Amino acid sequence: MPWKATNTHLRILHDAEKRQYGVIAAIAYNIEHILGLVKAASQARSPLIIQFFPWAIEVSDGLLVRTAADAAKRADVPISIHLDHAQSEDIIRRAVDLPFDSIMVDMSHYEKEENLRKTAELVALCNEKHIATEAEPGRIEGGEDGVMDTAGLEACMTTAEEVEEFVATGVDALAPVFGNVHGEYGPLGPRLDFKRFQEIKMRAAKRVRLALHGTNGFKPELLQQCVRAGVAKINVNKLVLDDYYDHLHSNTGKVPHTQLIEEGIEKVAQLTRKCMEICESAGKA
Ligand SMILES: [Zn+2]
Repeated sequence: MPWKATNTHLRILHDAEKRQYGVIAAIAYNIEHILGLVKAASQARSPLIIQFFPWAIEVSDGLLVRTAADAAKRADVPISIHLDHAQSEDIIRRAVDLPFDSIMVDMSHYEKEENLRKTAELVALCNEKHIATEAEPGRIEGGEDGVMDTAGLEACMTTAEEVEEFVATGVDALAPVFGNVHGEYGPLGPRLDFKRFQEIKMRAAKRVRLALHGTNGFKPELLQQCVRAGVAKINVNKLVLDDYYDHLHSNTGKVPHTQLIEEGIEKVAQLTRKCMEICESAGKA
């Protein structure tokens, strides 16, 4: 059987696309997050993607990734381990020796020709190790200021032509730019261009799955609108970690450390379960 048919990440995304729900792809920064996320998936009977920034590899020399992979293997629902925004060949070479099911080869900081060339090379490198890949056509803007002026934003949005060019690199998933930004949105909140997204979706034509980046502050209705539009992978960060941070702010130093940790895990699990219900992955595993 070809490896792509058995890769956990791809199986999770294919099922989400086929049955039209969104899989939560949550960033984990520590072991409480990993435990809370896995607990939520198991309780909600939901598939899950646990993802890391390259930071997690650096700070723990890969230990956090191996820990998550171990938790995924022991879980009673499908869970895959993904590396978000790997932006250098060095980090990707390091990551392919860790138990990742998928890696985001993000060369979007290069000009397009170089971006496409490097993406194709690094996708092949990941695939040699039977690791699936994601890439970013266009360029997702980030930063504290949130939504920028339309002229600046338009230049970075994903075009149908770019979808075609990136599909040709052999990636399995694309993170399109259609008004979504990293970090916080401005006072107007997120303003997504669903018409553009539909064109991207049509062009992707089930050859690649679509991932939504930049969901901080999204209301449940907007998440559901994205799922209905055909997003299979929903990247979340603060949407599942906000209550955990509030808990730390309110209780650090006031309760025993063991209690702080256990309640922190529960905070992550509760918000994640809520997200799984909103994106309708609950009950699908
Ligand atoms: Zn992102």
